[in-house]
Amino acid sequence: MDITRGINPLGLLSIHRDSRRQNDYSYQLSESRSESDVGRGPQIRMLWVQVRQGLLLFCSGFFSVQAVALPLDPARLASELKMNPQTIRVRLSGLGRVMTIKGEHLALSLAKRPDLGNVQSEEWIIDCKRSLIHEPSTQKSRQIPRSGILIESLSGVLSLNQRNFRDQLVVYPKELLSPYDESVRNNSECLVVNHIDLERYLESVVNGEFNSQWAEAAVEAQIIAARTYALFQMTEMRKDKGRVFDVESTQKDQVYLGLDRVDSKASELVAKTKGMILVPRFGKNEPIKAFYHASCGGRTITPEKVWGASFKGFGKGVRCPFCYGSPSYLWDYRLSFHELEKKIWNGISKDSLNRKFWPEVYRSNPNRWYLKSVVARGDRPKAIKMPIGALIAEAQAGQTADLDQGHIKELHFEFLDREDIGNTLKVKMDAYAARNWIDPSRLKSTWYEIMTKGRSILFRGKGSGHGVGMCQWGAKNMGEKGFTRDQILLHYYPGVKIARISK
Ligand SMILES: [Zn+2]
Repeated sequence: MDITRGINPLGLLSIHRDSRRQNDYSYQLSESRSESDVGRGPQIRMLWVQVRQGLLLFCSGFFSVQAVALPLDPARLASELKMNPQTIRVRLSGLGRVMTIKGEHLALSLAKRPDLGNVQSEEWIIDCKRSLIHEPSTQKSRQIPRSGILIESLSGVLSLNQRNFRDQLVVYPKELLSPYDESVRNNSECLVVNHIDLERYLESVVNGEFNSQWAEAAVEAQIIAARTYALFQMTEMRKDKGRVFDVESTQKDQVYLGLDRVDSKASELVAKTKGMILVPRFGKNEPIKAFYHASCGGRTITPEKVWGASFKGFGKGVRCPFCYGSPSYLWDYRLSFHELEKKIWNGISKDSLNRKFWPEVYRSNPNRWYLKSVVARGDRPKAIKMPIGALIAEAQAGQTADLDQGHIKELHFEFLDREDIGNTLKVKMDAYAARNWIDPSRLKSTWYEIMTKGRSILFRGKGSGHGVGMCQWGAKNMGEKGFTRDQILLHYYPGVKIARISK
């Protein structure tokens, strides 16, 4: 779990065009999201949560998994499919256009009516581009309905493109997500969702997100955080009845790679913490959105600072002396002005949902705009304009922001028009969104300073990930130093108590 898990890929985004010419125009656009955007992914959801935050605080009855003192209502967690209430729906990705599913006595049925008669085979081949499911032994093909096809095996294990998954797979045609999900549309991939028991899911998350061989206290703390996060998402995502999955299997939510990543230590520690979750210390016993990240760089921050939305259980950021010296505690990322220009423009052109908001003059030929300057604004009111000078032959050395300033909140880019010198275009972006557009794997956090070096730009930063909630490297080192599981959790989530789900 890391970068985009939170929210708001565009965040604060506005654009306006200035000109000193009489017949030019200027305007400002601000982002707007409709309720239908909710299904687009975790990024948008948060915005939606933000809008309804006041309402949510009073809607705890909606939460179906409740801790200790409260009775569990299993029916509330079941979706439109007849599912065990403790089943999580995990969207798998990176599966390709053609998939092979194998298993012992594979049974295939309509996902909407799993109790109806099913068809058995040892192997199914799925052609995602044409939305067909093919049975090699009989050479028969059938269309995948929008409501999906459910596949399970006698042994409970399914092999999907030679990766093993437990419980059930549901395959939906690629069209299902196409309005929201670019990867589905462009890659002709199916939408494949693994329905799996929550505790079994966690056994795989252990070695996807962290490592079962780390100190036990640290691993247990991380399992509890992962379980809490999963339950929060299960509750939140099922409010949208049209949605068919709860979490992504990538860093957008929690890294899940199926049965192959499970080992005995992971299973043992999941069992040891069975049903344990984090709930706010005061108020309702609901799972919090237990964010975590790779390394904080010395201090964690609140969700408000990253996404502008508040969440229960996150009172304040905490000091973290424990991740010092970990990978990505300090990092550098250098790229040329031209590369940065291209990344920003690629981001704009891929931003299909908002595409209509970008004026034609920019969309038609983004290459006509030179990056002229960038301004970074952090938590503290300090912003130094740094001329990049892509248009001007000689770049001026400069620096904007510094590490003392803390996390960067906004980046302001100014472009010059190659075809009409004098026109400028200003793009103001949430630093979190800018990070995703630039390169989240190399621009590792939003805690950085910027320097120009020749015709390149150098980001020098601290930490890896959004910096909210538990610092994974910090937790690892706390475990090695002898802190207990509960001490680790309460250090990084100071506003919580630990509870156990009761049935
Ligand atoms: Zn840390």
